[in-house]
Amino acid sequence: MIRAPRGTFDILPESHQRRKLLESAAERILGAAGYRRIETPTFEATELFARGVGEATDIVRKEMYTFDDGAGRSLTLRPEVTAPVCRAYLEHGMRKLPQPVKLWYLSTCFRAEAPQRGRYRQFWQFGAEAIGSDAPETDGELIVLLADLLEAVGVRPTRLRLSSLGTPATRAEYREELKAFLRAHEEQLAGDVRDRIDLNPMRAFDSGDAGTRAVMRDAPTLLDRLHPDDAEHFDAVRALLDEAGLTYELDPTLVRGLDYYTRTVFEFTSDALGAQSGVGGGGRYDGLIELLDGPPTPASGWAAGVERMLLATSELPTAPELVDLYVALANRDGARTAFELAVDARRAGLQAQQELAGRSLKGQLRHADRIGARYVAIIGDNGVATLKDMESGEEHDTGVGDVIPEILRAGTRT
Ligand code: ATP
Ligand code: MG
Repeated sequence: MIRAPRGTFDILPESHQRRKLLESAAERILGAAGYRRIETPTFEATELFARGVGEATDIVRKEMYTFDDGAGRSLTLRPEVTAPVCRAYLEHGMRKLPQPVKLWYLSTCFRAEAPQRGRYRQFWQFGAEAIGSDAPETDGELIVLLADLLEAVGVRPTRLRLSSLGTPATRAEYREELKAFLRAHEEQLAGDVRDRIDLNPMRAFDSGDAGTRAVMRDAPTLLDRLHPDDAEHFDAVRALLDEAGLTYELDPTLVRGLDYYTRTVFEFTSDALGAQSGVGGGGRYDGLIELLDGPPTPASGWAAGVERMLLATSELPTAPELVDLYVALANRDGARTAFELAVDARRAGLQAQQELAGRSLKGQLRHADRIGARYVAIIGDNGVATLKDMESGEEHDTGVGDVIPEILRAGTRT
């Protein structure tokens, strides 16, 4: 048997229903703030991600599905959607529109990762981007929108971690300062931390080692080193979140997997998830559009994983599928009449199905009951049908041509 590739999954009809609920919640919540939906291609020029996500990131170094298009061009299945949205913004001259341009998406992403619960090789992301504004209110709006979306679909409990990365220059200076600090305390650090001072000094903040933890209590943090403009911007974002009643934890060690972030960064996690606790996150990426050869353009956004949202949501009400009419056959002679009645019923706006499996009459009624049909019309001889109300059990004979008007007169179910 041929199976779906490792780390991929089928979305079966039942789970598709739950996804549709997420989609309509996103449509409603993001639409109300003026975000309009965009869909970019599944694959892009590899260079877009190499530049836009960053050559040094795990995503570009290890996680991309890259292939040759047969004509010498390197293409990549999108591992994320922010760079493609920025490409589209530039390609379609959206900077001539009133700014910021607010966009949202629901798209598949592809990353070559070790599959586990909440981590797949093809997965879905919701995202929102506001391109062309550096206002702290833009960051505030985006964070509140993601909080509201998670709340609306029942992702609970969530924690919001918040920080500011300042500018790449501040970050580079800070990194050197932190490395020097770690070297000065080298003999008190755990071996693995010491070995990685140059490669990844930030890791020291996550260490469980007692000696390292003691040292890190006095370590300089990036938040203390922000340029005054960036610090002011960050204070404004925090005040807005307070205003909106969102609780958050300041986490100066928050680093995001993408290179392009500046200033605000944030992440929502859920305790309902295990190791893969990140539900969604994002931040400001003022340098990205320029990296893609555009003019200096501030921007901010987030992405949230659909599968992790579903995993963290215990109950999503699934609406029952509606079937107004099931057309059954008393005998095979009625087959064409049954087909016609089902077609006409659907054209009249009813949800109608017909018998397709050659069941006995008893079997047809049992099937109609199982799929929740409201009425069954049993096609008999000479243009007569028995119309049965499945809820009350009442039934009577009527002309085939009267079946649809009778159901319509009875009104649709709410
Ligand atoms: P993680 O730290 O879990 O690897 P990330 O930092 O790589 O996450 P982002 O690139 O910020 O994640 O993507 C945004 C969201 O997309 C994540 O919060 C998560 O919900 C989801 N996501 C990321 N990678 C995967 C994956 N391989 N499978 C399923 N969902 C994912
Ligand atoms: Mg990752």
